[in-house]
Amino acid sequence: MTAMVQTVRGPVPVEALGNVLAHEHVFVLSTEIMLNFPDEWGDEDARVTDAVQRLTALKAAGIDTIIDPTAIGLGRYIPRIARIAEQIELHIIAATGIYTFNELPHYYARRSLEYMVEHFVRDITHGVADTGVRAGILKCATDRPGVTRDVEKVLRAVAQAHRRTGVPITTHTHAESQRGLEQQKIFLDEGVDLSRVIIGHSGDTDNLEYLEALLANGSYLGMDRFGIDGYLNTEQRVAVVAELCRRGHADKLVLSHDASCYLDWIPGEVDTSATMPNWHYLHISHDVIPMLQQAGVSDGDIDLMLRQNPARLFAVQGSY
Ligand SMILES: [Zn+2]
Repeated sequence: MTAMVQTVRGPVPVEALGNVLAHEHVFVLSTEIMLNFPDEWGDEDARVTDAVQRLTALKAAGIDTIIDPTAIGLGRYIPRIARIAEQIELHIIAATGIYTFNELPHYYARRSLEYMVEHFVRDITHGVADTGVRAGILKCATDRPGVTRDVEKVLRAVAQAHRRTGVPITTHTHAESQRGLEQQKIFLDEGVDLSRVIIGHSGDTDNLEYLEALLANGSYLGMDRFGIDGYLNTEQRVAVVAELCRRGHADKLVLSHDASCYLDWIPGEVDTSATMPNWHYLHISHDVIPMLQQAGVSDGDIDLMLRQNPARLFAVQGSY
């Protein structure tokens, strides 16, 4: 029996995922600001049309699926994503989980860990609110502040929801401070099979010792911020991926940009083309793949990173 993966348009066979970008947002929004200061967001229809155009162009560039790890804390609003998904061919895998670097949102602060688990499991098994859209992946974050009391609570809740549902986990990390290893430790403590986890933003560092330690524990590495030059530029990111491929790790890497059609965190204008010219959905298809080939990465390894590895991640299913 072929494994089915939940996308925003419904379940699809795992083979239909095709080439996958493992960490792209459609929108990153401050929902409470939008409700009260809606001017910058502007016209809903125009934003949706813009997203449809960008994601249509991404499909035309050879990508078939994005994993959208927009969890609670990043302005997730599934009805808008569903409206976009209806107008494109690309598959979008929605996420559940909580995105915080330090404290929990007040809503969750006095509620139990089990309460968070119930929310995540409901998103995965029943669907998000009344949309019928089921989350296909779990998301959590550890940044510079490290595993604070509340971050630990989220990591453990995500791990428990993962074990109850079998959907994979993807994370945000601050790679420079090696946060991925702390995440693996907590997941392991919760009995998680670390091969069901993508340690995200691992491509933000060229510390190969750290990256190989994460790999030795069995997780996938998200080389998922191509175009965010502030940590490493594209040449540096390509060099790290090429070296990891040379060392035989292509079967554990996934690629992405962590881009979005619109995020309201950057003051003034969504257009980052002046400050970060490569930070958009098409950079990997247009620039990074040719650069990887130039650096000696085989087409077989590129196929592993874009197609086979995500398929393997989602093919393993069921609670444990
Ligand atoms: Zn992200």
